[in-house]
Amino acid sequence: MKIPLVDLKAQYAGIKSEIDRAIQRVLEETDFIGGSAVREFETAFASYCGTRTAVGLANGTDALQLTLLACGIGNGDEVITAVNTFIATSEAISATGARPVFVDNDPHTYTIDVQKIEEKITPRTKAIIPVHLYGQPAAMDVINEIAERHGLVVIEDAAQAHGARYKIKTVGNLGRLACFSFYPGKNLGAYGDAGAIATNDEELANKVRMLANHGRLKKYEHEMEGYNSRLDTIQAAVLLVKLRHLKEWTEKRQQIASRYTQLLSSAKEIVTPSKNPDATHVFHLYVVRVQQREQVRQTLKEAGIATGIHYPIPLHQQPAYRYLGLPTGSYPVAERYAGELLSLPMYPELTEEQIEFVCATLLKACQSNTAARHH
Ligand SMILES: *Cc1c(COP(=O)(O)O)cnc(C)c1O
Repeated sequence: MKIPLVDLKAQYAGIKSEIDRAIQRVLEETDFIGGSAVREFETAFASYCGTRTAVGLANGTDALQLTLLACGIGNGDEVITAVNTFIATSEAISATGARPVFVDNDPHTYTIDVQKIEEKITPRTKAIIPVHLYGQPAAMDVINEIAERHGLVVIEDAAQAHGARYKIKTVGNLGRLACFSFYPGKNLGAYGDAGAIATNDEELANKVRMLANHGRLKKYEHEMEGYNSRLDTIQAAVLLVKLRHLKEWTEKRQQIASRYTQLLSSAKEIVTPSKNPDATHVFHLYVVRVQQREQVRQTLKEAGIATGIHYPIPLHQQPAYRYLGLPTGSYPVAERYAGELLSLPMYPELTEEQIEFVCATLLKACQSNTAARHH
C-alpha cells in the first residue's frame, strides 16, 4: 500500500468533469485576467467566511505583504508572529521593511503562546500575525485583548485554516483581516498559486485590491504605485468548483483526525494533537510528536507511508534569520518540538483501511523503539 501525505490525484478524480468544464469556459471566454469567475469567487468566498468582503490575490505570501502595506506598516516597525510557522509569514513582514519578532509556540496547541506575546512588545510594534497553525485557530480572545491594550493591528494568517472557527466566529472575523493561501495542497487549493484576503473592513480591502493591481481601481488611473498580484481567472474558476465541496472535505478531515486520535492515543509514546476547546480545528495537517523521529519516519517510509515535518527548523535558527542574533535556547518549546513533530497523511479521500495501516505501522515503529531503549 502506498499512502502519500496529500493525494491531489484522488481529489481531481472525484471532481474531474466539474473542473474540466469550468476551465474550458475560461478558455472559451479568454478573459484570463479579471474574468467573471474572479468576482464570483470573491463573493462566494466572503460568504463562506461570513465576512463582508474578500479579495482574490496571486498567493498567500502576497496577501500578507499587501495587507501589512495597506495597514501602513514598513521601515522601522516591528511585527510579532509565531516562531513555528512557514517562512512566508515572516518574509511578508520583512518585505515591507519591518522586522519580524518571534514568539514561542504553546506547548499544547502549537499556536503562538499568548503568555509570551507582551514581553516582545516595544514602542515600534505595530501588528500581531497569529498563525492558525495546522488548521487550528490561535487563542484569539487573548490576542485581541493584548492588541487592543497596545493599539496593535491583528492580521490572521489563515493559510492553513479555511473555515475554521473560534468560539462562534469563523476565521476572517477574528482580527482586522485574514490572509489565505490556495497553494494546491492547502485545504482549499488551486491548480497553481493563488491566495485571498477576507475581512469586514471594506476600506482596507479596497486598499489591498488597489495595491494588488498596480495601485489602481480604474484602468489607467493610478492612485499610487502598487504590485501585480491578481488572482487569475482559471484559478478562480477552479476554486469556485472546489469551494462547493469544502464543507464536506473539512468534515472528512475532522473525521479522519478523530479516527487517528482514537487509534493512537492509547500509546504513551505518541502525543496526539491537543484541541483548544474554544476552537474548531480543520486539520490541514494531523501532527503527532514522537521520540527518535527519524527512525520512526524511516520505518513508515519503508512501509510506503509518506510523512512530513512542519517545520524541521524554527525560524530563528534558519540561516535567513541569523542577522536577528537569536541564540539557541531563545525559543525552548519550538526548539524541542522541531525534533519530534511528525505530520501523518491527511486528505479527505483517505480510507479507513489506509488510516488503520498508518496507525498500526506507527504504533509498531514507536513501540519497537521503546523496547530497544530498554535493552
Ligand atoms: C502556505 C502558507 C503561506 C503562504 O502561502 P503561499 O500561497 O504559498 O504564498 C503563508 N503562511 C502559512 C502558515 C502557510 O502555510
